[in-house]
Amino acid sequence: MSEQTIALVTGANKGIGYEIAAGLGALGWSVGVGARDEERREAAVAKLRAAGVDAFGVPLDVTDAATVTAAASLIEERAGRLDVLVNNAAITGGMPQAPTVVDPATVLRVVDTNVVGVVRVTNAMLPLLRRSQSPRIVNMSSSVGSLTRQAGGDFDTGPISGAYAPSKSFLTAMTVQYARELSDTNILINAACPGFVATDLNGHRGVRTPEQGAAIAIHLATLPDGGPTGGIFDDAGVVPW
Ligand code: NAP
Repeated sequence: MSEQTIALVTGANKGIGYEIAAGLGALGWSVGVGARDEERREAAVAKLRAAGVDAFGVPLDVTDAATVTAAASLIEERAGRLDVLVNNAAITGGMPQAPTVVDPATVLRVVDTNVVGVVRVTNAMLPLLRRSQSPRIVNMSSSVGSLTRQAGGDFDTGPISGAYAPSKSFLTAMTVQYARELSDTNILINAACPGFVATDLNGHRGVRTPEQGAAIAIHLATLPDGGPTGGIFDDAGVVPW
C-alpha cells in the first residue's frame, strides 16, 4: 500500500474546496478532487496538476448515493485506503430564505446536500479511513450556524436563514455525534469555519480569499495523533457553539 497520504475533498472544483485540495497537494499528498460536473472537475484536476499536485478526479454528487459508492470504489482501487476526508461541498439554496417564507423543498435540498451528503460520504468512506494509521475527517461548517453567535453579540451571522445557517448548525451537531461514536478509534473528526470568503456561494461578497478560508481545514486535516476531536474551529481557535 502507498506511503503517500491520500485525501478526498468534496466540492473541490472551485472556491475553498479547490484551495484545500491545492494546500493538501502542496504537502505531497495525493488528492481526490470530488466534483459532480465532469468538465469542472477535470479542469480543476488539470490546474492542480499543472501546479505540481498529484490530483485525480473523483466523480461525486453528495446527494446521489450511487456516485458516493462509486467514489469509494475508485479510491479503494487506487489507494486501498483513505487518510483524510474533507466534506466541503455545500449549497445555500439561494437567498432570501427567511424561515417564514422559505420553500420547504429548499430546506430539504439544502439539508440533503449539506448534512445528509456528509453522512453519505463519510459512511461510505469509513471502511477506507479505518485502514489509515491517522484518519482525519474535516466537515466544513460555518460560524453562521453557531447558536451562541446567533443569540447575540457583535458577530455578523449573515442574513436570516431558514435553510443554510440551520444546516450548518445541524452539520456541527452531527460532527459532535460522530466524534462521540468514534471516540475509541484513531479517527479525529472536527468542524471547520472558514470565515466570510469571497466565492460563488455568496456572490463574492466575502472579505477573505479562498486560500485563507482553506487554512483551518488544512490545519484540521493535518492534526497530530491525539489531537482534538468533536471540536469546532476557526483560525482563532474554538468557535463558541
Ligand atoms: P462554492 O464556491 O459555491 O463551492 C461549493 C462547492 O460545492 C462547489 O465545488 C460545488 O460544485 C460543490 N457542490 C455543491 N453541491 C454539490 C453536490 N451535490 N455534490 C458535489 N459537490 C457539490 O462555495 P465555498 O464558499 O467554496 O464553500 C465551501 C464550503 O465552505 C461550504 O461547505 C460552505 O458552506 C463553507 N463556508 C463558506 C463560507 C464563505 O464565506 N464562502 C463561509 C462559511 C462556510 P459545483 O461547481 O458543481 O456547483
